[in-house]
Amino acid sequence: MKRDFIGYLAVHSGVAKVLRSIWHDQLTVLAYHRIGGTASTFDALFDDSLYSCTQQALEQQLLMLKRVRTIVTLNDVCDALDGKLKLPPRAALVTFDDATQDHYTRAFPVLRRHQINGLFFVSTRSLTERTVEWWNLLTIAIKRAAAGTYDLGELGGIVTLHDAASRVAVARSVSDKIKSQSVRGDALPLVQDIAARLAIALPAIEQQSDGVITPVQLIEMQSAGMTIGSHSHSHAFLNRLRPQEQLQELQQSKAILENLLQVPVRSIAYPYGQATDYDQHSRDAAKLAGYDCAFNLLKRRLVDPSKVDRYDIDRFPVPAQAGLSVRGVHLRHHGVIALPELEATD
Ligand SMILES: [Zn+2]
Repeated sequence: MKRDFIGYLAVHSGVAKVLRSIWHDQLTVLAYHRIGGTASTFDALFDDSLYSCTQQALEQQLLMLKRVRTIVTLNDVCDALDGKLKLPPRAALVTFDDATQDHYTRAFPVLRRHQINGLFFVSTRSLTERTVEWWNLLTIAIKRAAAGTYDLGELGGIVTLHDAASRVAVARSVSDKIKSQSVRGDALPLVQDIAARLAIALPAIEQQSDGVITPVQLIEMQSAGMTIGSHSHSHAFLNRLRPQEQLQELQQSKAILENLLQVPVRSIAYPYGQATDYDQHSRDAAKLAGYDCAFNLLKRRLVDPSKVDRYDIDRFPVPAQAGLSVRGVHLRHHGVIALPELEATD
């Protein structure tokens, strides 16, 4: 567990009062990925690194969050960015990426039960073509391959697959290579090549479809108070595309979602969301496509709505399998940062 040094200093050095006044007006945007299920479900084969927590942990975290922060909606944030609204003290926005089926079956019931607005970012190619994203297909192939030694070519070299840990490590390493390589366009052909080297047939569309949220479910979630945002069309590495192609990705996704949901889709989360994955052309494209704001995934916890670039709003990914931290509660008593269970873990 990494010590939150600033929070520690704030509590113990008497500067808490000053920092409290600074943090008071700031927004925290949390980003969840998958909400986990049991080993017997199809999505247990998915990429482990994007497993945020179980449904039970999600409920605990959101209840704790509700106690220490005021959870706001995307419309509140947009109004604050427009200068029409002052957000409540210690505001938080709760977001989910990638529209996996568990967002409907596991996150949505918890959010509805506690009347919390969730903002769900959807890649529309996955939604309409009923395909799970490439990193999940990669992990499925590696988890399903027979034990043995394989040549995975340029992306993986010679690897030996045996226990679960070795497979997760190989999947992570190949996935990192795909993300870091200047692969222009789609990563799917690379994953198909890896699957062929492992002598694995990738799941049929009918089975992949089980892992992806459906359009009807999105409509139901919206009707129950959830908000839907874009996550591009093809979950592209945006800055590897030409500016016009970036714009097309963002426009196409917005058009599909608005046609489905019959409301303006006001926000987008840049796929992958790191500084190496989007650029000024992406920010320009988000504005040109008509979004009111855009989110990154740069792991920063606090956003000042009066100063932030509305097309580059920081989000903080909830660390995989985050637990409830005793020190977080300690900080809550001091009213300083009040972000229990959200300390970054190494
Ligand atoms: Zn994503």
